[in-house]
Amino acid sequence: MGGKGEKPKLIMEDGKRHDGRLPDELRPIKMEIGVLKNADGSAYVEFGKTRVVAAVYGPREAQPKHIASPYRAVLRCRYHMAPFSTDERKSPAPSRREIELSKVIREALEPVVMTEMFPRTSIDIFIEVISADGGTRTTSVTAASLALADAGIPMKDLVAAVAVGKADGVLVLDIDQVEDNYGEADMPVAAAPSLNEITLLQLNGVLSMNEFKEGLSLALKGIGEIYKIQKETLKNKYLQVEGE
Ligand code: ADP
Repeated sequence: MGGKGEKPKLIMEDGKRHDGRLPDELRPIKMEIGVLKNADGSAYVEFGKTRVVAAVYGPREAQPKHIASPYRAVLRCRYHMAPFSTDERKSPAPSRREIELSKVIREALEPVVMTEMFPRTSIDIFIEVISADGGTRTTSVTAASLALADAGIPMKDLVAAVAVGKADGVLVLDIDQVEDNYGEADMPVAAAPSLNEITLLQLNGVLSMNEFKEGLSLALKGIGEIYKIQKETLKNKYLQVEGE
């Protein structure tokens, strides 16, 4: 949507996508936790060329004090794209888009964080997109959820996220920047699979009712795969600690 220049072919004669993936295939995924020495919890998540680092601090005394709640921890989130993360240098100052995404990402995580256990504190999430190739908000949710778990913050579930799109009339999983720019629709979804809750659902572009239903189940299938990798990543860390 809103692509610049002439539209490239998104679906090839053999039914594969411009990068060789099948319509229901995720990009190659890498996840790692504990990547930052100075954060209470951290994670690095990569979906193809989209690369994100998330850092979590807290629960800690809420600053400034007036934001504190006597009932729960205040969850704060800052999503930021590094100036070198995009094709054209992005201004380092927070844009309207980054302010909006910070809120959307926080709201995607809030339902799983047991904030009531830590009154008068804040839990701060800092997200830095170091390489952007589509799907940075969903990669950020996936990374932030891992970083919260790495910080030992009690959660009801992990949240995993992915965007489904429509490219040359075909529903495709985990769209990259080209498919986002030149496709007909972009639908980011986040879910807490064990809680059976969807915590983020946005739709940019147009889908028919049936495409929406099909797209949602494609997203949830992808989320299931991502959730498995998140759990493996956490388990591997604990196994390593035990073996030390
Ligand atoms: P998402 O990253 O969650 O898909 P958008 O749909 O807003 O969010 O952006 C799609 C892609 O467009 C981003 O992943 C990034 O690759 C690119 N992009 C977004 N904002 C900028 C920007 N300010 N400068 C250059 N590229 C950008």
